[in-house]
Amino acid sequence: MMSPVTMMPSRTRDLEELPEIRRKEIESAPCAMGAAENEVDSNVAVRTLFCNLLQQIGEDPRRVGLLRTPHRAAKAWEHLTAGYKMNIETVLNGAVFEETYDEMVVVTDIDFYSMCEHHLLPFFGKAHIAYVPNGKIVGLSKLPRIVDVFAKRLQVQERMTREIADTINKYLDPLGVAVVCEAQHMCMMMRGVEKQNSFTMTSAMLGSFKEPNTRAEFMNLIANKRS
Ligand SMILES: [Zn+2]
Repeated sequence: MMSPVTMMPSRTRDLEELPEIRRKEIESAPCAMGAAENEVDSNVAVRTLFCNLLQQIGEDPRRVGLLRTPHRAAKAWEHLTAGYKMNIETVLNGAVFEETYDEMVVVTDIDFYSMCEHHLLPFFGKAHIAYVPNGKIVGLSKLPRIVDVFAKRLQVQERMTREIADTINKYLDPLGVAVVCEAQHMCMMMRGVEKQNSFTMTSAMLGSFKEPNTRAEFMNLIANKRS
């Protein structure tokens, strides 16, 4: 049987096992611990920030368990904020079609993960989207992609909801758009009021969804999904 140590990737081995020269390098600049082989490297400046953060909260970045944490955290943040580098035109490329269908199109329960811009803590939940086409429809898989463009950045739920609705409105020019987001906020659950079971609901209703009947039809669809 292999010992646990030999099963570990080389980058997480105990510092003592590293060659003297490599150990010195890490001890002098812990955030130098970047990508392992065959892995994409992380942003060195962000890595350094996380290294400083570890020190400032009273941790030791040279502790074996934390050796690659600045690298992993930098990679994680790159993913969590990938929306800044996404472009709606690229996302929608080739997926807007001329179509005479003019009934409500509804996609519910689109999972999203975002970061609260006030606390840099996650909020996450589901987005429900509906629109009534006016000659143009969009590939259904593009709606979750649009949600991602706005979720993967620093946000407040209210603005994110509105941005998703405005984007669909702009690129499809439909008769109406509705977006409802329901989310749990870690900044409410882990700190502050520490309320574990509260959901925050936000909505943006444009065009025909301002009419009570159309709005009610959509809201009933979401409510029926839940019961
Ligand atoms: Zn917050």
